[in-house]
Amino acid sequence: MSHPAKILLIGSDKTLLAEMENLLRSAALTVMTMLWSDALLPSARNGVARIQANLAIVDLRALADPLDAFRRLQLLLPETPCMALASPEQELLVETALAEGAVDCMLTTPKLQARLLKRVRLLLELENASLHALTSRRRGAVSFDNAPIGLFRCTSGGMLTVVNSTMARILGVSSRELLQETLLWDWFVDREEAGRWRDVFTAQWSLYSGECWMRRADNATLWARVSIEWVVEPESGFIYGEGLLEDITEQRRVQSALRASEEKLRLIFEHAFDGISIYEELPESGSRRLLECNDRYCEMAGRSREELLTIGNTSLVHRKIGRVFTRAENLFIRQHKIPYRGFFSWIRPDGKPNVIEYSAAPIDVEGRPLTIGIDRDITDQIQAQESAMRRADHMEAINAVIGAAAAAVDARALLEHAVQALVQGLIADGAVMWTRDEIAVAGIDEAEARRWMARFDRTQASAYLIEDASSPASSGQGERWLAAPIVHEGRLFGGLMARGADVDAWPEDALALASAVGKEVGAAVERFHLFEQTLQQGRIAAVGRLAAGVAHDFNNILAVILLQTQLLELEPTLSEKSRLRLHTIAERTQYAANLVRQILDFSLKSVLNKAPVNLSLLIDEVADLLRRTFPENIQIIVENASLQGFVHGDFTMLKQALLNLALNAQDAMPEGGTLSLRVERLEGTGDSRADHHGEWLRLTVRDDGVGIPADVLPHIFEPFFTTKEVGKGVGLGLAQVYGIVKQHGGEVSAVSQPGQGAAFFIDLPAFHPEPPIAPPTLPTGPSASVRLLYVEDESLLRETFCDLLELHGYEVWPAADGEEALARYGERLAEVDLMITDLAMPGMNGVELHRELRRRLPSLRTIVLSGYPAEHHLSHHAYEGIVAWLQKPVGVATLTAQIEEALKAKA
Ligand code: ADP
Repeated sequence: MSHPAKILLIGSDKTLLAEMENLLRSAALTVMTMLWSDALLPSARNGVARIQANLAIVDLRALADPLDAFRRLQLLLPETPCMALASPEQELLVETALAEGAVDCMLTTPKLQARLLKRVRLLLELENASLHALTSRRRGAVSFDNAPIGLFRCTSGGMLTVVNSTMARILGVSSRELLQETLLWDWFVDREEAGRWRDVFTAQWSLYSGECWMRRADNATLWARVSIEWVVEPESGFIYGEGLLEDITEQRRVQSALRASEEKLRLIFEHAFDGISIYEELPESGSRRLLECNDRYCEMAGRSREELLTIGNTSLVHRKIGRVFTRAENLFIRQHKIPYRGFFSWIRPDGKPNVIEYSAAPIDVEGRPLTIGIDRDITDQIQAQESAMRRADHMEAINAVIGAAAAAVDARALLEHAVQALVQGLIADGAVMWTRDEIAVAGIDEAEARRWMARFDRTQASAYLIEDASSPASSGQGERWLAAPIVHEGRLFGGLMARGADVDAWPEDALALASAVGKEVGAAVERFHLFEQTLQQGRIAAVGRLAAGVAHDFNNILAVILLQTQLLELEPTLSEKSRLRLHTIAERTQYAANLVRQILDFSLKSVLNKAPVNLSLLIDEVADLLRRTFPENIQIIVENASLQGFVHGDFTMLKQALLNLALNAQDAMPEGGTLSLRVERLEGTGDSRADHHGEWLRLTVRDDGVGIPADVLPHIFEPFFTTKEVGKGVGLGLAQVYGIVKQHGGEVSAVSQPGQGAAFFIDLPAFHPEPPIAPPTLPTGPSASVRLLYVEDESLLRETFCDLLELHGYEVWPAADGEEALARYGERLAEVDLMITDLAMPGMNGVELHRELRRRLPSLRTIVLSGYPAEHHLSHHAYEGIVAWLQKPVGVATLTAQIEEALKAKA
């Protein structure tokens, strides 16, 4: 080749072009470089055509429509062989270019530079002729006539002069000839459009293109892209148009369909119930940037779109719920475009927490890694679900408490179950439940629980919250507890307190639960108390029955010992030493008799001699006795002694009760102290006595001694219960008080604060005596020639008593039982002044005997002696003629006094 070969280089990237130019120049080639935009400019067209290059290298990359550019250039340089450069992605384009006349194509791989020169040389070395042949062979497929688009030439007036077959086919005309000589504008549907094209023609000579709605020969319409270039022939100045016409109906259809679907998508995007967002992932920084989001998304985030776009990486205002993906997982998801889902919560400026369920899909758009997210606010659902679950938990807790209340054997077991149920129900981190004697904790220790309990407010009737802003415990927020009383019908038994999740999040529900639990436990505790009381009373009654049974036989034995001793004491020949011994026997026997009496008193089986008793006089008398007998360091105080309060009772028995209480008080005050006796009228309101009708009087014995521990207090009235050392107490004192008070239809109770003394209350129904009480007349000694019928089945006792009574100057007719008395004395019984009879006897008992004899001797009077007065209705008030009812063992002095009184009343 003699001349250096000419290369025309066309591309769109100046730097790349420069690089290639240098490369080609280095191989001593002549290079003309042009930008596509310049090469296709109408004004440059002729220049380009004239270059007469040996080879055109056209870079088809980075062109909006590379095929279009290539075709235009082919038209411009029909003689010049063309080599196309394309990127590896443009494979399809390469094929088309080769099919449409390119002599060669190269892909712009990194090795391009090295290979380019070699290829160019090869092409240039081919014989000109063969190159031409190659070019035209290739181009044969795309000759003017067979070009895939319509090609035409027209006059400046729009008259078509040359058209190819493709154009005729597009416009539905059977041959090219028929189309020639027609006006281009006539094929336009829109007249106005046609006018514009005509105007453009007269106004300026340049390229004009547009999309036009055209009508085919068969009247069908089509959309066509038409471009016309007005060419001025340099020599003649003749103006003609060179044009392209392309059927774009299908393209338009697809486009408008796309546009419609885009519009639909936009509507969905804007009005979706869910939040939609598009993020660009920034792998280098590991962060992301919000590109677009809809209104709902902003709403959920609680921020405006502008704010969110400014924040960009909204991960900063999210809180992921659940597991966070690892880096490797993130990478995998992105690489394999795996959609994923999960939950998060916005950190909203308004502080309102929400729960968002999201699903995200990684996609790549134009090489950019994006993520499309669809978010749904499920806060309400979660709350509804949580609330349902919470209610279920609370119901379960209540059920557990009810179950525990039914199953528990005592208050302690109940509290322990209930506090556990409470903790589970409230998701509490700690709870305490207590009554007066018991405490149960869960999640906290007892010391902590006691600190909580110090804040308990006893005046609250139902559950309430305690807030402590000053507490340093939790991050400045302060502590919050829930507290509820354990109550039943207004009576407070204790309380419960808890702290935990539900208390903070759902205080209303938690309060309702706590109130319910408090009431449930309250009712159960009340049941336990009642049960305890019943049990206690049952125990007392059982012991009483047992004791009374023993006491009956015991009494007869003691009576014999006592009377025999007294008889022996009367022996004139007795030595002083023996007399003293006998005295000791008599004293001990008396003591034993006293114990039996206490047992009988307690078992409600003693005999009462009831009369109106003035309680003020009673406490005065007791106080006098105490002042005389108690040590000096115990001060005796009488309060309210002027009150005129009467009860119907046995003076001696009541005195005994008060003395027992006083003796205990003395024991409780070894270092001395104050003992007060008080009488008062009870007001009906606010006291347990309110349950009872009528007026009540209260005796109080109070000391400031050691007091009674809480665990001892419930047992003190039990017989044989004592805390005193052996020999000091037998535990019958309070049991006797209990029995005496019960027999008077009253109540006895005690309160005590250990270390601060104790108070005992005896409550008795008041009594209003009608006649003034006559002062008792004292017996003046045995009356002469008094005849006594003495009936007693115990022979030893009968004989002893007969001896004693005779010693006192009475004439005694003894009998073992009723039958014997009748058989033995018969009609002479009318001479009897008084009958003394034992109550319990085989066959006829004492009362029956009295009634039998009284039928014959209507004036008969009887004294009944009883060791075991089994029935209350056997009171002497019930039977006319029974003047006294004495309890065995009876001393001679008591009996003679009664005999004298009976005789006097008869007289
Ligand atoms: P005893 O006196 O024989 O022990 P009681 O039935 O009189 O029997 O009393 C029972 C128990 O009650 C006593 O052992 C004592 O522990 C307690 N107690 C009774 N009264 C008082 C009091 N005033 N102060 C302290 N403890 C008392």
